Amino acid sequence: MADRQPIFILPENVSRMMGRDAQRNNIMAARLVADTVKSTLGPRGMDKMLVDSVGDITITNDGVTILEEMQIEHPAAKMMVEIAKTQEAEVGDGTTTAVVLAGEMLKNAEKLLEQNVHPTVIARGYRLATEQAIKVLHEISTKIDRGDKELLKKIAITAMTGKGAESAKEMLAELIVDAVMQVADGGEVDLDSIKLEKKKGKSIDDAELIKGIVLDKERVHPDMPRKVENAKIALLDCALEIKSPETDTKVNINSPDQLQSFLEQEEKMLKGMVEKIKSSGANVAICQKGIDDVAQYYLAKAGILTARRVKKSDMEKLAKATTGKIVSNLNELDEKDLGSAKLVEEVKEGKGEEGMIYVRDCPNPKALTILLRGGTEHVVDEVERAVKDGLGDVAAALKEERVVAGGGAIEIELAQRIRKYSQGMKGREQLAIEEFALALESIPKILAENAGLDPIDMITELKAKHDAGEQHAGIVVGSNGIANAFEAGIIEPLKIKTQAITSASEVTNLILRIDDVVAAGKSGGGMPPGGGMPGMGME
Ligand code: ADP
Ligand code: MG
Repeated sequence: MADRQPIFILPENVSRMMGRDAQRNNIMAARLVADTVKSTLGPRGMDKMLVDSVGDITITNDGVTILEEMQIEHPAAKMMVEIAKTQEAEVGDGTTTAVVLAGEMLKNAEKLLEQNVHPTVIARGYRLATEQAIKVLHEISTKIDRGDKELLKKIAITAMTGKGAESAKEMLAELIVDAVMQVADGGEVDLDSIKLEKKKGKSIDDAELIKGIVLDKERVHPDMPRKVENAKIALLDCALEIKSPETDTKVNINSPDQLQSFLEQEEKMLKGMVEKIKSSGANVAICQKGIDDVAQYYLAKAGILTARRVKKSDMEKLAKATTGKIVSNLNELDEKDLGSAKLVEEVKEGKGEEGMIYVRDCPNPKALTILLRGGTEHVVDEVERAVKDGLGDVAAALKEERVVAGGGAIEIELAQRIRKYSQGMKGREQLAIEEFALALESIPKILAENAGLDPIDMITELKAKHDAGEQHAGIVVGSNGIANAFEAGIIEPLKIKTQAITSASEVTNLILRIDDVVAAGKSGGGMPPGGGMPGMGME
């Protein structure tokens, strides 16, 4: 230790923190993140209002949304945000749970650090506990039947409880399950095939499942039909335009006659393009690129309802929904490439409102749309997040065909079993495994707290029930305390829990093992002094 004469091995603007200070600081920052989202957990969780730098407001209860909007800076805190993002990507729900678990694991690890248990010992204990937890979770989860629609609906409802869609959750659950079952291929569900389209106005109850795709587009010409029944749809990803000459090519026009014939030539070509669409038998054309005014005119004359500049992702969904093929070369457009839908129509709901094109009632669509509504933008946005959670959970349940009882039931059962497992272990690792079990109990504890129940009473009672073999006893909000969560319909996919526990413990271990934080100062737009890497080595 250089007590008297400080020796500098790092550039001036580099800050450094070591040993217990570094650990404490990281754990504190990570725990702050967990504390932030804690109050939103569960059906009685509160919402947060987030206002960004330009004054846009988000009101949400969704863990990952909160953390993303907060623009967290601290590196350890950012790692916690990553857990939420991973959870969101892997399951689509359970983000708060994952972050809260990591926060509790860290809090409990800190207790052990204070007792001079080495971080690598804690990390090993946590790792063993995680492995055991995953094993036990599989054992105590329940196998489901992929066709069990009622059960899948309960999963969707559990996901949406307390998320601003309360009044309509039954009906939304029905839409979610129908949508997932329609696009599912065995246990595989590509959630990208379910488009969520939002529309402000009317109420949440007016949400609708459309067996096709809704495009936020209007038809390109007012003389086109608004409505086409038994639609034959050309899906084009080529422009219906004459390519404008490159800057270095010159068209020499020396007389009005030449100009006239040049324009006629162009018109003829555009007309020819429309002819090709028409002769394929299409009465609707959806184009990813632009459409020249002249082509629009001829399309209207041919009675073809046309939309242009449609997003690539929507084109792909349209292809799946209508079983059409996206064609890039008009010369190759053939009748068999056309998609079909019972009805394509442009709908304008109010005066001055933008219209939308509905491609409806496709026969056996492999992509579809849930149209969400709500009185204000904030309401629709929060409903969308709730529905996404529902979709993610139902898809995860179909995939693994395994579910668990929510309301903290699974966490209590798991904690009890992990404690038993720890008894077979020796020394300090045993302590870490016990702390891991304690961290699991935080979920029912916070659920109780957020529901205004006494957490200590609730946990004691829950433990007694589980000891007596009531595996599904959990906090059931609405029943005023403890009940059989499975029977109460509080059901979640197994994957939420395995993913949350795995990533929480991984990040905990990562943070625990850090004992030196070297942070380069903000370079403020310029290069750091010396222009290179922050110097770590000795000279
Ligand atoms: P997350 O972001 O982790 O999904 P949520 O706010 O969605 O957080 O809360 C999920 C928790 O709420 C789960 O533990 C789930 O079992 C529980 N839960 C859902 N519905 C109920 C209910 N009716 N009663 C008690 N707990 C419930
Ligand atoms: Mg949730």
